[in-house]
Amino acid sequence: RAELSAPGADGEPPRPAVLIMLEDRTRAAKAEALRRDFVAYASHELKTPLASISGFIETLQGHAKSDPAATERFLRIMAQQTERMKRLVEDLLSLNRIEINEHVRPRDPVDLATVAWEVASALSPLAQAQGTRIEVSLPREGMMTRGSHDEVAQVFVNLMDNAVKYAGHGGPVRVTRAQPTPGRAGMIGVTVADSGPGIAREHLPRLTERFYRVDAARSRERGGTGLGLAIAKHILNRHRADLSVTSKLGEGSRFTVWFPATPDEAAAPEPPVGAA
Ligand code: ADP
Repeated sequence: RAELSAPGADGEPPRPAVLIMLEDRTRAAKAEALRRDFVAYASHELKTPLASISGFIETLQGHAKSDPAATERFLRIMAQQTERMKRLVEDLLSLNRIEINEHVRPRDPVDLATVAWEVASALSPLAQAQGTRIEVSLPREGMMTRGSHDEVAQVFVNLMDNAVKYAGHGGPVRVTRAQPTPGRAGMIGVTVADSGPGIAREHLPRLTERFYRVDAARSRERGGTGLGLAIAKHILNRHRADLSVTSKLGEGSRFTVWFPATPDEAAAPEPPVGAA
Protein backbone atom coordinates (compact mmCIF):
# COMPACT_ATOMS: atom_id res chain seq x y z
CA ARG A 1 0.00 0.00 0.00
CA ALA A 2 1.42 3.39 -0.95
CA GLU A 3 0.15 6.95 -0.49
CA LEU A 4 0.20 8.86 -3.74
CA SER A 5 -0.98 12.20 -4.98
CA ALA A 6 -3.27 12.08 -7.96
CA PRO A 7 -3.21 15.25 -10.09
CA GLY A 8 -6.39 17.24 -9.57
CA ALA A 9 -8.45 18.76 -12.34
CA ASP A 10 -7.24 22.07 -13.77
CA GLY A 11 -6.60 24.55 -11.02
CA GLU A 12 -7.48 22.14 -8.20
CA PRO A 13 -4.89 20.90 -5.67
CA PRO A 14 -3.69 17.31 -6.14
CA ARG A 15 -6.01 14.72 -4.52
CA PRO A 16 -4.55 12.00 -2.27
CA ALA A 17 -4.83 8.53 -3.79
CA VAL A 18 -3.97 5.07 -2.58
CA LEU A 19 -2.25 2.37 -4.61
CA ILE A 20 -2.81 -1.14 -3.31
CA MET A 21 -0.37 -3.76 -4.59
CA LEU A 22 -1.47 -7.36 -4.34
CA GLU A 23 1.28 -9.92 -4.32
CA ASP A 24 0.57 -13.66 -4.61
CA ARG A 25 2.14 -15.06 -1.47
CA THR A 26 0.48 -18.47 -1.79
CA ARG A 27 3.11 -19.98 -4.08
CA ALA A 28 6.02 -18.69 -2.01
CA ALA A 29 4.36 -19.87 1.20
CA LYS A 30 3.71 -23.30 -0.31
CA ALA A 31 7.33 -23.64 -1.46
CA GLU A 32 8.53 -22.64 2.00
CA ALA A 33 6.22 -25.18 3.68
CA LEU A 34 7.46 -27.90 1.30
CA ARG A 35 11.07 -27.03 2.10
CA ARG A 36 10.36 -27.18 5.83
CA ASP A 37 8.60 -30.56 5.49
CA PHE A 38 11.51 -31.85 3.44
CA VAL A 39 14.10 -30.85 6.04
CA ALA A 40 11.93 -32.37 8.80
CA TYR A 41 11.54 -35.65 6.89
CA ALA A 42 15.22 -35.88 5.97
CA SER A 43 16.25 -35.22 9.58
CA HIS A 44 13.81 -37.81 10.85
CA GLU A 45 15.04 -40.39 8.35
CA LEU A 46 18.62 -39.81 9.53
CA LYS A 47 17.72 -39.66 13.21
CA THR A 48 16.19 -43.13 13.33
CA PRO A 49 19.28 -45.13 12.25
CA LEU A 50 21.49 -42.77 14.24
CA ALA A 51 19.50 -43.45 17.43
CA SER A 52 19.72 -47.16 16.78
CA ILE A 53 23.51 -47.03 16.28
CA SER A 54 24.06 -44.96 19.40
CA GLY A 55 21.86 -47.38 21.41
CA PHE A 56 23.92 -50.35 20.26
CA ILE A 57 27.18 -48.58 21.07
CA GLU A 58 25.96 -48.06 24.62
CA THR A 59 24.95 -51.71 24.89
CA LEU A 60 28.33 -52.82 23.56
CA GLN A 61 30.13 -50.58 26.01
CA GLY A 62 28.03 -52.08 28.80
CA HIS A 63 26.97 -55.64 29.41
CA ALA A 64 27.33 -57.01 25.84
CA LYS A 65 31.11 -56.53 25.96
CA SER A 66 31.74 -60.06 27.16
CA ASP A 67 29.25 -61.71 24.80
CA PRO A 68 30.91 -62.31 21.39
CA ALA A 69 27.69 -63.57 19.74
CA ALA A 70 25.74 -60.46 20.80
CA THR A 71 28.66 -58.23 19.78
CA GLU A 72 28.69 -59.82 16.34
CA ARG A 73 24.92 -59.36 15.93
CA PHE A 74 24.96 -55.73 17.10
CA LEU A 75 27.85 -54.86 14.81
CA ARG A 76 25.92 -56.34 11.87
CA ILE A 77 22.87 -54.21 12.68
CA MET A 78 25.05 -51.12 13.07
CA ALA A 79 26.62 -51.79 9.66
CA GLN A 80 23.11 -52.05 8.11
CA GLN A 81 22.00 -48.80 9.71
CA THR A 82 25.18 -47.04 8.56
CA GLU A 83 24.52 -48.30 5.03
CA ARG A 84 20.99 -46.91 5.24
CA MET A 85 22.26 -43.47 6.26
CA LYS A 86 24.86 -43.58 3.50
CA ARG A 87 22.20 -44.31 0.86
CA LEU A 88 20.02 -41.51 2.15
CA VAL A 89 22.84 -38.97 2.14
CA GLU A 90 23.82 -40.04 -1.40
CA ASP A 91 20.21 -39.64 -2.58
CA LEU A 92 19.88 -36.25 -0.91
CA LEU A 93 23.07 -35.08 -2.61
CA SER A 94 21.90 -36.40 -6.02
CA LEU A 95 18.58 -34.62 -5.63
CA ASN A 96 20.32 -31.41 -4.71
CA ARG A 97 22.78 -31.62 -7.63
CA ILE A 98 20.02 -32.27 -10.15
CA GLU A 99 17.78 -29.53 -8.76
CA ILE A 100 20.56 -26.95 -9.03
CA ASN A 101 21.04 -27.85 -12.70
CA GLU A 102 17.41 -28.49 -13.55
CA HIS A 103 17.16 -25.65 -16.07
CA VAL A 104 20.25 -26.82 -18.03
CA ARG A 105 19.41 -29.53 -20.54
CA PRO A 106 22.21 -32.06 -21.13
CA ARG A 107 22.66 -32.75 -24.86
CA ASP A 108 24.95 -35.75 -25.43
CA PRO A 109 23.61 -38.41 -27.80
CA VAL A 110 22.15 -41.24 -25.69
CA ASP A 111 20.89 -44.57 -26.98
CA LEU A 112 18.09 -45.50 -24.59
CA ALA A 113 18.26 -49.20 -25.55
CA THR A 114 21.99 -49.43 -24.74
CA VAL A 115 21.51 -47.71 -21.40
CA ALA A 116 18.59 -50.00 -20.50
CA TRP A 117 20.67 -53.09 -21.37
CA GLU A 118 23.63 -51.84 -19.33
CA VAL A 119 21.47 -51.16 -16.29
CA ALA A 120 19.60 -54.47 -16.55
CA SER A 121 22.83 -56.43 -16.64
CA ALA A 122 24.30 -54.45 -13.72
CA LEU A 123 21.16 -55.21 -11.68
CA SER A 124 20.94 -58.85 -12.69
CA PRO A 125 22.70 -60.23 -9.55
CA LEU A 126 20.28 -58.23 -7.39
CA ALA A 127 17.32 -59.52 -9.42
CA GLN A 128 18.59 -63.07 -9.02
CA ALA A 129 18.93 -62.62 -5.29
CA GLN A 130 15.27 -61.50 -5.22
CA GLY A 131 14.17 -64.55 -7.20
CA THR A 132 13.45 -62.75 -10.45
CA ARG A 133 15.17 -61.54 -13.66
CA ILE A 134 15.05 -58.49 -15.92
CA GLU A 135 14.18 -59.11 -19.57
CA VAL A 136 15.01 -56.28 -21.97
CA SER A 137 13.40 -56.37 -25.38
CA LEU A 138 14.08 -53.10 -27.20
CA PRO A 139 14.72 -52.29 -30.87
CA ARG A 140 18.32 -51.61 -31.90
CA GLU A 141 17.36 -48.53 -33.87
CA GLY A 142 15.22 -45.48 -33.35
CA MET A 143 16.03 -45.23 -29.64
CA MET A 144 18.22 -42.10 -29.67
CA THR A 145 17.64 -39.09 -27.49
CA ARG A 146 19.84 -36.30 -26.19
CA GLY A 147 20.86 -36.00 -22.59
CA SER A 148 23.22 -37.31 -19.96
CA HIS A 149 24.06 -41.00 -20.17
CA ASP A 150 24.63 -41.25 -16.40
CA GLU A 151 21.39 -39.52 -15.48
CA VAL A 152 19.32 -41.61 -17.90
CA ALA A 153 21.00 -44.68 -16.39
CA GLN A 154 20.04 -43.41 -12.91
CA VAL A 155 16.37 -43.23 -13.97
CA PHE A 156 16.46 -46.81 -15.28
CA VAL A 157 18.27 -47.99 -12.14
CA ASN A 158 15.58 -46.47 -9.93
CA LEU A 159 12.72 -47.97 -11.96
CA MET A 160 14.22 -51.44 -12.42
CA ASP A 161 15.43 -51.54 -8.81
CA ASN A 162 11.89 -50.73 -7.60
CA ALA A 163 10.37 -53.38 -9.86
CA VAL A 164 12.79 -56.00 -8.52
CA LYS A 165 12.51 -54.78 -4.94
CA TYR A 166 8.71 -54.63 -4.71
CA ALA A 167 7.74 -57.36 -7.15
CA GLY A 168 10.52 -59.96 -6.79
CA HIS A 169 9.32 -63.60 -6.98
CA GLY A 170 6.36 -62.35 -9.01
CA GLY A 171 7.54 -63.13 -12.56
CA PRO A 172 10.22 -61.33 -14.58
CA VAL A 173 10.57 -57.57 -14.90
CA ARG A 174 10.00 -56.64 -18.54
CA VAL A 175 11.59 -53.65 -20.28
CA THR A 176 9.97 -52.87 -23.63
CA ARG A 177 9.30 -49.99 -25.99
CA ALA A 178 5.96 -48.33 -25.27
CA GLN A 179 3.36 -47.89 -28.00
CA PRO A 180 3.39 -44.22 -29.03
CA THR A 181 0.22 -42.43 -27.95
CA PRO A 182 -1.33 -39.53 -29.92
CA GLY A 183 -0.41 -37.04 -27.20
CA ARG A 184 3.24 -38.07 -27.28
CA ALA A 185 4.22 -37.70 -30.91
CA GLY A 186 8.00 -37.45 -31.31
CA MET A 187 8.67 -39.18 -28.00
CA ILE A 188 10.27 -42.56 -27.29
CA GLY A 189 8.69 -44.49 -24.44
CA VAL A 190 10.42 -47.23 -22.47
CA THR A 191 8.27 -49.26 -20.10
CA VAL A 192 9.49 -51.11 -17.02
CA ALA A 193 6.70 -53.55 -16.12
CA ASP A 194 6.41 -55.91 -13.19
CA SER A 195 3.78 -58.35 -12.07
CA GLY A 196 4.06 -57.51 -8.39
CA PRO A 197 1.46 -56.32 -5.89
CA GLY A 198 0.61 -53.14 -7.83
CA ILE A 199 -0.18 -49.71 -6.42
CA ALA A 200 -3.65 -48.41 -5.51
CA ARG A 201 -4.90 -45.67 -7.81
CA GLU A 202 -5.01 -42.92 -5.16
CA HIS A 203 -1.23 -43.18 -4.63
CA LEU A 204 -0.22 -42.86 -8.28
CA PRO A 205 -0.21 -39.03 -8.55
CA ARG A 206 1.98 -38.73 -5.44
CA LEU A 207 4.68 -41.33 -6.15
CA THR A 208 7.27 -38.78 -7.31
CA GLU A 209 6.94 -36.64 -4.17
CA ARG A 210 9.97 -36.75 -1.93
CA PHE A 211 9.66 -39.37 0.81
CA TYR A 212 6.24 -40.48 -0.43
CA ARG A 213 5.91 -44.19 0.20
CA VAL A 214 2.88 -46.41 -0.21
CA ASP A 215 4.10 -48.74 2.51
CA ALA A 216 6.84 -47.08 4.53
CA ALA A 217 7.81 -50.19 6.52
CA ARG A 218 8.16 -52.28 3.39
CA SER A 219 10.20 -49.58 1.62
CA ARG A 220 12.62 -49.27 4.56
CA GLU A 221 12.90 -53.01 4.97
CA ARG A 222 13.96 -53.22 1.32
CA GLY A 223 16.49 -50.43 1.68
CA GLY A 224 14.37 -47.71 0.04
CA THR A 225 14.98 -44.06 0.86
CA GLY A 226 11.67 -42.78 -0.52
CA LEU A 227 13.59 -40.52 -2.92
CA GLY A 228 14.12 -42.77 -5.97
CA LEU A 229 11.15 -41.59 -8.01
CA ALA A 230 11.62 -37.95 -6.94
CA ILE A 231 15.18 -38.12 -8.31
CA ALA A 232 13.90 -39.78 -11.49
CA LYS A 233 11.29 -37.04 -11.96
CA HIS A 234 13.87 -34.25 -11.61
CA ILE A 235 16.21 -35.92 -14.09
CA LEU A 236 13.32 -36.35 -16.52
CA ASN A 237 12.38 -32.67 -16.18
CA ARG A 238 15.93 -31.73 -17.09
CA HIS A 239 15.64 -33.89 -20.21
CA ARG A 240 12.21 -32.49 -21.20
CA ALA A 241 11.11 -36.07 -20.58
CA ASP A 242 8.16 -37.44 -18.68
CA LEU A 243 6.96 -40.36 -16.57
CA SER A 244 3.61 -42.14 -16.73
CA VAL A 245 2.47 -44.89 -14.38
CA THR A 246 -0.35 -47.37 -14.59
CA SER A 247 -0.95 -50.08 -12.05
CA LYS A 248 -3.52 -52.64 -11.00
CA LEU A 249 -3.64 -54.07 -7.50
CA GLY A 250 -2.67 -57.71 -7.55
CA GLU A 251 -1.50 -57.55 -11.19
CA GLY A 252 1.52 -55.28 -11.29
CA SER A 253 2.80 -51.84 -12.29
CA ARG A 254 4.02 -50.23 -15.52
CA PHE A 255 6.33 -47.23 -15.32
CA THR A 256 6.96 -45.58 -18.71
CA VAL A 257 9.58 -42.90 -19.33
CA TRP A 258 9.10 -40.71 -22.41
CA PHE A 259 12.12 -39.01 -23.95
CA PRO A 260 12.17 -36.66 -26.96
CA ALA A 261 13.30 -38.69 -29.99
CA THR A 262 16.33 -37.66 -32.02
CA PRO A 263 16.79 -39.18 -35.51
CA ASP A 264 19.62 -41.79 -35.34
CA GLU A 265 21.79 -39.97 -37.89
CA ALA A 266 21.27 -36.55 -36.24
CA ALA A 267 22.35 -37.97 -32.89
CA ALA A 268 25.79 -39.05 -34.13
CA PRO A 269 28.54 -36.89 -32.66
CA GLU A 270 29.44 -34.01 -34.93
CA PRO A 271 32.68 -34.52 -36.90
CA PRO A 272 35.59 -32.38 -35.74
CA VAL A 273 35.95 -29.08 -37.60
CA GLY A 274 38.08 -29.52 -40.72
CA ALA A 275 37.43 -33.28 -40.97
CA ALA A 276 37.10 -34.63 -44.51
P1 ADP B 1 11.58 -46.07 -2.28
O1 ADP B 1 12.99 -45.76 -1.96
O2 ADP B 1 10.71 -46.15 -1.08
O3 ADP B 1 11.45 -47.24 -3.18
P2 ADP B 1 10.63 -44.48 -4.53
O4 ADP B 1 10.56 -42.99 -4.66
O5 ADP B 1 11.52 -45.21 -5.48
O6 ADP B 1 11.04 -44.76 -3.02
O7 ADP B 1 9.17 -45.07 -4.66
C1 ADP B 1 8.11 -44.49 -3.91
C2 ADP B 1 7.12 -45.55 -3.47
O8 ADP B 1 6.41 -46.05 -4.63
C3 ADP B 1 7.74 -46.79 -2.85
O9 ADP B 1 7.95 -46.61 -1.46
C4 ADP B 1 6.70 -47.86 -3.13
O10 ADP B 1 5.69 -47.82 -2.13
C5 ADP B 1 6.08 -47.41 -4.46
N1 ADP B 1 6.60 -48.17 -5.62
C6 ADP B 1 7.55 -47.74 -6.50
N2 ADP B 1 7.74 -48.65 -7.47
C7 ADP B 1 6.90 -49.69 -7.20
C8 ADP B 1 6.63 -50.94 -7.86
N3 ADP B 1 7.26 -51.30 -8.97
N4 ADP B 1 5.68 -51.75 -7.29
C9 ADP B 1 5.03 -51.39 -6.17
N5 ADP B 1 5.25 -50.21 -5.50
C10 ADP B 1 6.17 -49.38 -6.01
